[in-house]
Amino acid sequence: MDRYGQAYCLTGSRVDLSNLVISTNFRRDPDQDPPLFSHAVCHHRQMPSRGQRADFSRTVAEKLAKRAAYKCSFPTCIRSTTGPGANEDQVSTTGKAAHIYSASQNGPRGTGGLTLEQRQRIDNGIWLCAKHADLVDKNGGTDFPVPTLREYRRIHEERIRSERALISGSSAWVHSMTINSAPIFKTPLTIHFGKVTVICGENHSGKTALCDWLQGISNPLTLCSWADALKSRTLSYEVTYFDPFEQRIRVRTHAHDEVEYFLNGEPTPFDPNPIRFVRLKYVQLDRRDHGPQMTDLEFLSRTLSVSPALIRNMLPLVGVQQASTVGGVRLETTSGDALRLHTDVHGTLRGLDLRYGLSNTERCRVLLEIAAVFARHSAKRVPTVLLIDWAAKSFDNKWMKRVLDFLSEDGNRFQTVIERVAHGLESWEAARTINLIGNKENVTTR
Ligand SMILES: [Zn+2]
Repeated sequence: MDRYGQAYCLTGSRVDLSNLVISTNFRRDPDQDPPLFSHAVCHHRQMPSRGQRADFSRTVAEKLAKRAAYKCSFPTCIRSTTGPGANEDQVSTTGKAAHIYSASQNGPRGTGGLTLEQRQRIDNGIWLCAKHADLVDKNGGTDFPVPTLREYRRIHEERIRSERALISGSSAWVHSMTINSAPIFKTPLTIHFGKVTVICGENHSGKTALCDWLQGISNPLTLCSWADALKSRTLSYEVTYFDPFEQRIRVRTHAHDEVEYFLNGEPTPFDPNPIRFVRLKYVQLDRRDHGPQMTDLEFLSRTLSVSPALIRNMLPLVGVQQASTVGGVRLETTSGDALRLHTDVHGTLRGLDLRYGLSNTERCRVLLEIAAVFARHSAKRVPTVLLIDWAAKSFDNKWMKRVLDFLSEDGNRFQTVIERVAHGLESWEAARTINLIGNKENVTTR
């Protein structure tokens, strides 16, 4: 066996002699974890004939391993996948060059319409330990959609780059939130986030609470609004994120003006503010307003909690992305001297007025695209999460899919959390879906 023999055969890329070699070798090595091996063997036995699989070449598998510094790319793992073997002259490697889009036609996450050659390329791979290679493929890969695995790989490679240069990176990954004590939910409850996360549930199932609490790690004001609902209870939860190194923020609050933050166990008297949250808020566009009517610019400014001056800067950038569902927007002065936002929304007439010309769904798409522009440019400098807690209400399944594809694009270096009212279990291909079961109390996930 050559020095990469073991790593390579565990990639699941080839069913050949190297597989036999590793099995023999494994049994001689009592330090290794038996499930890792049995996983590798099962995987090979289930494989269809070799010709149909988009296996990685040895060169690609080696490059993936080296780019990952032979460490698992799963954010909470990063265990080393290589080390000393049983004998002085042996290397033991347990990692796997795992496929993002599936190697075979009916594998986890599907083929995404990619050709066999495209699925063999290095950009379709991620280096994982055997345990996590197995985990990400469970349930047909629905818990780990393609955009999420791509971000895992990116954040891991950034971590390796940072380790080599001894600097910390500029982007972050919000991995999970564990709620230890709270109203509404049955605790403890852990929620894992994807690149895009859809939180589905009935009314009063705690969707907005999850968004508020997540945002609460950077903004105590979103927690203060929960003071009344808490009554005498304590709200306590922990958020794990990577910047690219693992960080934990614990938050505890039980009254209107009392919020405690702990960063990696240390109390901090101020909000650690590690992440910028761009939140699309519900603001009513009241046509029968008794006071002076809000201008379109004011409406957008309130919806996004961003100054009107910045909204103006962002508008020309709407619709430039490939998967955009909006062609563009522009401010124009009407005959009555009012500034109005005119829109080119795909599937409808060009130049329609935001306020009077668009349906609710179309207006929500425009707002979402403006929010995404802000998040995209923010994420170039600071870790950013886009929270959408009402706009998705009006999207039917077709639009929801398009919007999720748009938010999952590689160029978007931010994560998104979308709330959606649903009365049954949902599952979205491009997103990690969290189904909340129940309402008002003892809500749990499925
Ligand atoms: Zn791992």
